[in-house]
Amino acid sequence: MMDILADLAVQFDRPCDQVNFCCTTNRFGKIAPGSDPHTATLFCANCGARRGHLSQGAVTQITDIVRTFGAPDAPIILRAEGKPAPAPRRS
Ligand SMILES: [Zn+2]
Repeated sequence: MMDILADLAVQFDRPCDQVNFCCTTNRFGKIAPGSDPHTATLFCANCGARRGHLSQGAVTQITDIVRTFGAPDAPIILRAEGKPAPAPRRS
């Protein structure tokens, strides 16, 4: 399940990212395989800092989206814990 998500780009827009993000220039990151009990870990694309984990529900949801529509062209926006929303595709 995790392979399909590895290195997918994300944009952090969670409440916790608004107040305490490691980098000021942007809030882009990527998904990497996690270690037990976490399926997926999030990293800052700029400095590589760990930015938390994806919930199992989020992993399942994003996996379903990628399987159905393919990898998104734009970063997946993480708005709230467990409720990611893919950015609209550029035409
Ligand atoms: Zn950073």
